[in-house]
Amino acid sequence: MGVDLSPPSRSHIHCLNPTTITTPFHSRSKHHSFLFNPFTKSLQTHLPKPANFSMYQALKCSGVEEMETHKRNSMSLIFDHHKIDNQLLQKMEYDALVWSSLHGLLVGDTNSQRSGRVPGVGMIHAPFSLLPMPFPESHWKQACQIAPIFNELVDRVSLDGKFLQDSLSRTKKVDAFTSRLLEIHSKMLDANKIEEIRLGLHRSDYMLDEETKLLLQIELNTISSSFPGLSGLVSELHRSLLHQYKQHLALNPERIPQNSVATKFAEALSKAWSEYNNPRAVVMVVVQTEERNMYDQHWLCTTLKERYQVTSIRKTLAEIDALGELLPDGTLVVDGVAVAVVYFRAGYAPSDYPSESEWRARLLMEQSSAIKCPSIAYHLAGTKKIQQELAKPNVLERFLENKDDIAKVRKCFAGLWSLEDSNIVNDAIEKPGLYVMKPQREGGGNNIYGDDVRETLLRIEKEGSDENAAYILMQRIFPTLSPAILMQQGISRKDHVISELGVYAAYLRNKTKVIINEECGYLLRTKVSSSNEGGVVAGFGVLDSIYLV
Ligand code: ADP
Ligand code: MG
Repeated sequence: MGVDLSPPSRSHIHCLNPTTITTPFHSRSKHHSFLFNPFTKSLQTHLPKPANFSMYQALKCSGVEEMETHKRNSMSLIFDHHKIDNQLLQKMEYDALVWSSLHGLLVGDTNSQRSGRVPGVGMIHAPFSLLPMPFPESHWKQACQIAPIFNELVDRVSLDGKFLQDSLSRTKKVDAFTSRLLEIHSKMLDANKIEEIRLGLHRSDYMLDEETKLLLQIELNTISSSFPGLSGLVSELHRSLLHQYKQHLALNPERIPQNSVATKFAEALSKAWSEYNNPRAVVMVVVQTEERNMYDQHWLCTTLKERYQVTSIRKTLAEIDALGELLPDGTLVVDGVAVAVVYFRAGYAPSDYPSESEWRARLLMEQSSAIKCPSIAYHLAGTKKIQQELAKPNVLERFLENKDDIAKVRKCFAGLWSLEDSNIVNDAIEKPGLYVMKPQREGGGNNIYGDDVRETLLRIEKEGSDENAAYILMQRIFPTLSPAILMQQGISRKDHVISELGVYAAYLRNKTKVIINEECGYLLRTKVSSSNEGGVVAGFGVLDSIYLV
């Protein structure tokens, strides 16, 4: 990236006449004064107006016609980051890179071999969007309000072992991974194992469908919800840039919502730890052998230690198998230390279980009295098949009583179908672009899109196998395309993007007492519109934050 620290050019001063307008905005270049004019409609309500600028002055220098065009275009142009003056951009990019390096907005660098194993080695800034993305406040509030209802729903679904087993019974036959999870779940049901203390650290993901203006749920993550450690930093970075470049951007940093998910998740882990009531026990983070997203996890554990004085350890499934044991009273001891809470940041994908050793470890943890985040039942409640079952008529009613709650949840369900529905399968063969085909997998890169949907459906139909039970079909959501500047590996690029909002939520209960049930913050992931998947560490997307409009 060419880094230029010279001040933004003042040579293109627009017709705003500096002699008549003595505001901090008068020195902006043409594009800035036009595109980021603070008096455009959506910003009028929350930006302080400089004292001696009036509409009259604006009209005098712009001409009525131009003002009208300006007004018409303002909604789409305010956030057109592609129009920002290049020199100003370079300065902001440089500052953003410095900020992220100094504040720990970091991931391991693929170019460094040891970066996934050794902290402090081969670090690179996490991919991020240079400026926040406009997002309607009403939809943001909707997603936040619904978070505790989804928490309650997951908890109730998790208690209905028969519903989980029955709903996944066909999937089990064709999907070896889901089958192993169900096997552990079954063993727990047979042993009548009751999880009295239940902790959920969830993230419900949404896209805002452009045509219908509906906020539709993509999925609900109940295991290993990523980026609770880094997402708050992106909001801070954006707030800091908006503050620093206030005069050029005229965007109000206060419109980026506070995002304290790292603290809230650490607090939930610490409260769960307290409920377990063994002062010598630790929180155990289950990790992958190689983890480039380790700083996201370290942020949580460091907060847990520094704010709540709770110690954590990191272990792979193989290590847990080798070093773990169950005491007669059910205590899980790993490497000589009692474990109060098991926090999974691995164990959600088949590749996390390369041998029987890892499955033994999963079973051992499930059999123990440690609080599992998630338990096997919470994990299964977050599968895509269960999402699809819950979207069927009258199924939500089995788990929630409050009619308003049911309506709120249902409102954000996209179309979801089993492949047993031949009408939908035929429609998807005809119009594959309107559907996404999803297997029971987590972690990105598994879904099927476009013509591949047609081909896969036709192949399954021809083979007449039970493979259809491995997938669900989902309505494809088409969010609005926006211009953005993406920062990846120290290089910026302008592109058109779509965004996915994730709302974090924590749930903790001990028997009948609900200790925490709250929304905890958010994640915005932004990806180039041509990419189907959104994985940030995988290089598909970037971390972002929202600017409420
Ligand atoms: P995973 O468990 O792999 O994260 P998701 O259901 O979240 O599975 O899908 C991965 C990505 O695919 C999402 O982040 C989103 O970018 C895209 N995606 C998923 N479902 C849809 C959909 N219905 N419409 C449009 N894009 C989707
Ligand atoms: Mg996802």
